[in-house]
Parts: sequence; structure tokens; C-alpha cells
Amino acid sequence: MASMTICARFRPLSSKERRDHGDAVCIQHVDSETFSFKDEKDEEFTFSFDKVFYEKSEQAEVYEFLASPIVRDAVDAINGTIVTYGQTGAGKTYSMEGPSILVCDEQKRGLLPRVVEGLFDCIKSSGRTMKHSIKLSMVEIYMERVRDLFDLAKDNIQIKESKSQGILLNGVTEISVSSPAEALQSLSNGIANRAVGETQMNVSSSRSHCIYIFTVQQEVKKDERSKAGKLILVDLAGSEKVEKTGAEGKVLEEAKTINKSLSALGNVINALTCGSSGKANHIPFRDSKLTRILQDSLGGNSRTALLCCCSPSPSNALESLSTLRFGMRAKHIKMSPRLKGNEDKSAKKNGPPSPTKDESCERIL
Ligand code: ADP
Ligand code: MG
Repeated sequence: MASMTICARFRPLSSKERRDHGDAVCIQHVDSETFSFKDEKDEEFTFSFDKVFYEKSEQAEVYEFLASPIVRDAVDAINGTIVTYGQTGAGKTYSMEGPSILVCDEQKRGLLPRVVEGLFDCIKSSGRTMKHSIKLSMVEIYMERVRDLFDLAKDNIQIKESKSQGILLNGVTEISVSSPAEALQSLSNGIANRAVGETQMNVSSSRSHCIYIFTVQQEVKKDERSKAGKLILVDLAGSEKVEKTGAEGKVLEEAKTINKSLSALGNVINALTCGSSGKANHIPFRDSKLTRILQDSLGGNSRTALLCCCSPSPSNALESLSTLRFGMRAKHIKMSPRLKGNEDKSAKKNGPPSPTKDESCERIL
């Protein structure tokens, strides 16, 4: 049994933060897993995660640690999820997409293009005896409605559950892709569609959750059932509090809906970790579209990684603290992928945190 992989990432100070506060930062590097954090009252906390990516960390490091084990498993038909969490401007989309999906410096490419290449590379090296195919879907959740980003006419996709396949998005467009270039082009079209939809609805992308779904189908020998691994990447809506943005009207409604789905995510996480057995009887997956779509991922049949994106500036200390606390809560989830034979491997890779690490954050949990 493995735990969720939880990482923190601090982006470099923005020019505005530098202008307003100089070079001050609220974090102090201890090592690659631990840092100390000063809140707005100058109180200091120590945090430990599976890995901390500091301001100078490269996109490739994030991919290697957080995503590449999940990509390898998806090709072996184990579901995987990678989630970016944090306030608007904290670096979620930069981590997920990089500056651009199609054209950008190799060094700056985000998780998505690297995941695409990783999937095709793993398939190539998995041998000719097994045939794989990859299908891609892209949806956005805005105000609790699921929109198909490959077909904007499908603006209210329903979520269904099947015994054999788990959670399904009814009627969602699935594009078969046979090369990394094809997959990247489709992703780029989906991202452009997202922007079109947002302009039409007068919505900012930071107010919706964007979900990328790769289904990696494995065709096995004759008479055997084919297996599929679902790899879901989620660029969450900004987690900032309403009070800070002084929202009114529609913006306030958006903020409430986002808070509701992020709290639902938090509640699911709590329910998965509470009680003496470590699990509550009822897990409230149905409380939001987000948790419903992530049900398989958080519920056990999956490997999950959470990237908690933060600003290093003291001016954002309150929001960063809230993001880091969310990450610490998620750290207690225990996952049990359904495919046998991989449990030992995962236990080594993502083994449960040592008690001392958890104790270091008790004060704020
Ligand atoms: P979010 O999606 O969380 O709202 P973005 O990913 O759009 O935030 O990041 C906000 C700004 O910070 C963007 O201009 C982005 O290019 C920059 N940025 C974020 N993370 C990094 C990073 N690790 N290195 C360099 N620039 C970054
Ligand atoms: Mg974003």
C-alpha cells in the first residue's frame, strides 16, 4: 500500500512582488524535503513533503519525481492522477502546461507535454507483443457544469459509474492519438477552445478546473480482456479566499462554487483518512463534480500526486500556508492500486511519511 505523493513548489518572486516587497521570501530552504515557513505574524513552521521544488527547480525535475512513475504505471493499466493546487498566480498552469504546449524552450516545457512523450516512450519500450492505444479527452468544470473542451456544444456532460470501468463521462469526445505530435495538437486545440468558451462566458480560466484524461488501452493476447489505465491531470481553479479578492455578484458565486468543490476535495481526503481503521464508512465523493470525477483516483485504484503551488512572497503567506496545510492533510491518504505485483514497488517509492515528518506540522493541522 502506498501513500499519495505530495510535493510543494515555490515559483520565483514575480516582478510585482519584488517591486512591492523587495527580495523578501517567507521560506527558508532546509533540504529537498523540508523547509521552514514564516507566516504574516512572523511565526515559524517546519514543513516536510515528499519533495520540495524551490524557485530554481526545473520543470524536468518536477516531471521526473512526480509524474514519470505514474506515467509508467498508466501504461501497465494502473490509473493515475496528477493535481496542481494553489492560489491564482501560484504556478499551477505553468507547472502543468509550461508557457505553451506546442512551442516553448525544451527546459520550460510543463508536465503535460512531458507526460505525452513519456506515455509514447513507455509504450515503445514495453515490447511489440503488447499493443497499446491512447485516447484523449479534455473537460472543464465551471459552476458545477462539465464542459467538453473538444466540443463546446457538449456543455453539460453527465458523470456515470460503471462496474468494470469505474467513473465515466457520458458522451465525452475521445480523440485517438497515435503520436506525441498529434496528442499535443489536440491538447493545444482544447486549450484554445477553453479560452474561446471563457471569452464567450466572460470567465477567467482561474475560476474553473481543467481536466485532461488519457486512456491507455492495452490489448492483451486473444481471449484475454483488454486492460486500460486512465491518467488524469487536473489544473484546479485558484484556491484563494473570497475575502481577499473582495468579490461580488457573479465572481462571488464562482468563488463559492470553487470553495465548495475544493472543500469537497478536502472532505473526501479527511473521510479517507479518519477513524481507527484509517477510513470512514462514507466517503462523500458525490458532493462535487470534481470529487466524483476523481473518485477512482482518490478512492484507491490509482496512484495520485499532488503539487502544492505557492508564491514565496510574504505578501501571499496566508494563502501559501493554506495551500501547504491542504497538502499536509492529503499526505495521510493511503492508496491501493488494484493491479497486483506493484505494491512492493510503490511502497518503496511513495512510502508513508515517517512520524517525525508529520509531527513537524502538527501545530497547524
Ligand atoms: P496559476 O495557474 O496558478 O494561476 P500560473 O501558472 O499562470 O499561475 O503562473 C503565474 C505566473 O508566474 C505566470 O506568468 C508564470 O509564467 C509564472 N510562473 C509560475 N511558476 C513559475 C516557475 N516555476 N518559473 C517561472 N515562472 C513561473
Ligand atoms: Mg492557471
